[in-house]
Amino acid sequence: MNVLVLNCGSSSIKYQLLEMGSEPELKAKGLVERIGLKIGCLAHKNDRNQKYETETEVPNHTVGIKLVLEALTDKDHGVIESLNEIKGVGHRVAHGGEYFTKSVLINDDVISKIENCCDLAPLHNPAHLLGMRAITDVLPEVPQVAVFDTSFHQTMPASSYMYPIPYSLYEQYKIRRYGFHGTSHRFVAEKACDILGWNFEEKNIITCHLGNGASITAIKNGNSIDTSMGFTPVEGVMMGTRTGDLDLGALLFIMEKEKMSISDANSFINKKCGTAGVSENSSDMRDLQEDAEKGSERAKLTLDMYAHRVKKYIGSYAAVMNGVDLIVMTGGIGENSDVMRKMILSDMNYLGVEFDDAKNTDLRGEDATISKPNSKVKVMTITTDEELVIAMDTVKVAFRN
Ligand code: ADP
Repeated sequence: MNVLVLNCGSSSIKYQLLEMGSEPELKAKGLVERIGLKIGCLAHKNDRNQKYETETEVPNHTVGIKLVLEALTDKDHGVIESLNEIKGVGHRVAHGGEYFTKSVLINDDVISKIENCCDLAPLHNPAHLLGMRAITDVLPEVPQVAVFDTSFHQTMPASSYMYPIPYSLYEQYKIRRYGFHGTSHRFVAEKACDILGWNFEEKNIITCHLGNGASITAIKNGNSIDTSMGFTPVEGVMMGTRTGDLDLGALLFIMEKEKMSISDANSFINKKCGTAGVSENSSDMRDLQEDAEKGSERAKLTLDMYAHRVKKYIGSYAAVMNGVDLIVMTGGIGENSDVMRKMILSDMNYLGVEFDDAKNTDLRGEDATISKPNSKVKVMTITTDEELVIAMDTVKVAFRN
């Protein structure tokens, strides 16, 4: 069964077509960009490694979706003969607010709830809705499923998700911790437990999704009970360009001194800070590691800060769960940076982590254990695959419920 996975942004559509047999296979992936501008473009790649690129006018998401479907069914670079072969469409949805605790079949009620969450994700949710409407236009008979970044974290207790602000503001505006990267945290924790032969629902797990955006989650007995991203994806650990945790007073001070408007400040905390801000050079972990190796003190400081901040979350989540059985590292940095993994994990004996540096060194993009066999706490690297989770949920929700 073929499932189309869509991640619609305001001017882009990322897509993957997956064949969801007993071993799911990626058949094609690509990206439509510059929707609504004068000239849009599509870049497509199929499972025969053929690439296809085109530039054309893409005035809206419906035209963008049509372009994707043409690429998928093209005689040369396509991967299916007819659109009838697409049995379901899964949409990544950034924000489900307090409405959604799991993935759902899209209907009018779901659409209106996603609309109600537009305030909470003003850049993302409206774009996802455009994608859903475009699919309804073009493939009206095909079931669509919404998979939310936030839903896995809806199990958090109020003591984790409430902020210390007047309660009435929570009631009025729903200001609280939501958390993001939920599909990834759930997927890597379950996959690690499968590999270890453990029951996911009986363990304390800390998942560290460290990519350009980064978040850490405490999972107890299969439920997210705390996560580092909050009301927005700015809170938590230090990221490529986002601050992560920052004294609110410092932000107000900077806004005053630098005469920033609210929109300036929003762009500042999202785009100018994090590792890019401290290093004043790069948001990319590879660049920073290279610079640090060449002796750059600033790059070294940036790496030290990054590791320190992740360590603090691991320690605090172990504390709130009364111990941890498994720590999972994922995302571009978690999966590939042996340097950063060592900085974060090699000095955690107090917690019961016996880090195996021989296994860690040069390990990239693999599912592997990087703690010693006698380590009380297991540490694993697990490759995440958010599109696969979306496709799996689409099959489950649309066909197996
Ligand atoms: P996104 O959040 O955009 O999906 P990724 O999960 O792809 O990001 O992670 C991107 C980060 O992973 C970048 O900081 C990049 O430098 C880092 N990364 C990728 N490969 C390596 C590597 N071999 N060593 C160190 N860092 C890496």
